[in-house]
Amino acid sequence: MSDKIENGKVVSLAYSLKDSEGKLMDRADSKDPFLYMHGAHQIVPGLEGALEGLNVGDKKVVEVSPRDGYGEKNPALKLTVNKSQFPETVELESGMQFEAHSADGQSVIFTVESIEGDKVHIDGNHPLAGQTLHFDVEVLGIRQATEEEKAHGHAHSGDGHEHH
Ligand code: ZN
Repeated sequence: MSDKIENGKVVSLAYSLKDSEGKLMDRADSKDPFLYMHGAHQIVPGLEGALEGLNVGDKKVVEVSPRDGYGEKNPALKLTVNKSQFPETVELESGMQFEAHSADGQSVIFTVESIEGDKVHIDGNHPLAGQTLHFDVEVLGIRQATEEEKAHGHAHSGDGHEHH
């Protein structure tokens, strides 16, 4: 069939994602499939490359190295900051996440690791950085991206006209 996964197609997937230790990190099933636009870098490169050319109904187990996944852990993103750098209204607790912008305007999601007195230890690495990812994927649907989706560079739910 001509309807295989290629750039500009919107793909719906059922999948599970396990980390290096086999712990389930994320999943989607046929009732609530995961949608993405192929070639738009919405998913990690190792998975996107492995899905290229698949058809509806295909199943695949994909192992993705950190390099083709969320990258290696960057020690420079583990920081200690002062409590006073947070707004007073924020109740800090370990595990909470917040967004910060680096000097070059990139947004980074930090996770609060621990709090010691006035010191807050934070980590801007993706929780899956440094991990080998195990994807178990089933292709549920493939359709052409709408003009709107192409303009936005990402998939919209349903037939592509439903706006997010
Ligand atoms: Zn959009």
